[in-house]
Amino acid sequence: MNFIDPHIHMVSRTTADYEAMALAGIRTITEPAFWAGYDRGSAAGFRDYFEHLTVFEPARAAKFGIRHYCWICLNPKEAEDLALARDVLAIVPEFLDRTTVLGVGEIGLNKNSRNELAVLEMHLQIAADRNELVLVHTPHLEDKLKGTRLIMDAVKNFRIDPSRVIIDHGEEHTVGEILDRGFWAGLTLYPVSKCSPARAVDILETNGTDRIWLNSAADWGVSDPLATVKAANEMRMRGYPEETIRKVFHDNPAAFLGQSPKFAG
Ligand SMILES: [Zn+2]
Repeated sequence: MNFIDPHIHMVSRTTADYEAMALAGIRTITEPAFWAGYDRGSAAGFRDYFEHLTVFEPARAAKFGIRHYCWICLNPKEAEDLALARDVLAIVPEFLDRTTVLGVGEIGLNKNSRNELAVLEMHLQIAADRNELVLVHTPHLEDKLKGTRLIMDAVKNFRIDPSRVIIDHGEEHTVGEILDRGFWAGLTLYPVSKCSPARAVDILETNGTDRIWLNSAADWGVSDPLATVKAANEMRMRGYPEETIRKVFHDNPAAFLGQSPKFAG
């Protein structure tokens, strides 16, 4: 089967990773704009990053037979400087127009601060005005439930249809509420933090397989670009039929992403 990994940061991965992903059946990936491992000093730094995401990375992926899409935004880890945020937000729309950009992301909250919330709302205004899909990052550990609720309330205030918003990095205590409110939920598979494959499949057993996607969110930290393939194998070992596995790792992300006319599978 063909896998979609809908959340992975390839700018921090090697060409050997691309080859391994292609050999494992990962044919389509989407890369949200995020923190680069350091705070950028100017809007020009973000412009260079957005160029990388929309020009260089799709070409690099294509050499391995992988389709690469991306999402554009100023990420919540760099949202404390409101003057910088305004400068970056001014260049976001021109990149949203590009052919491989599926929407605004990954926006959200990191520490649930006042400035982060202000920058989240600036992004939601752009998404509402342009009818863009939205990919949301939720905070870690003790901040996660509170942050997830703040984000869902903010989306509602902008009258954005929750079926066009994925709330990512969901966990046992947030997924049920995300789905109940009409959003899509993402589960992130990390070897040492977030969800192990077994834990993610447990969450599927509790919450069902509708409006859920799984991703590796692989980046420069301890992470695994083949995590989706390993989680599919976990489902197989538990006796799930192939059609359910295909639904989780292909059909579900294709259905969400396909709400953008730019997504071609
Ligand atoms: Zn990410």
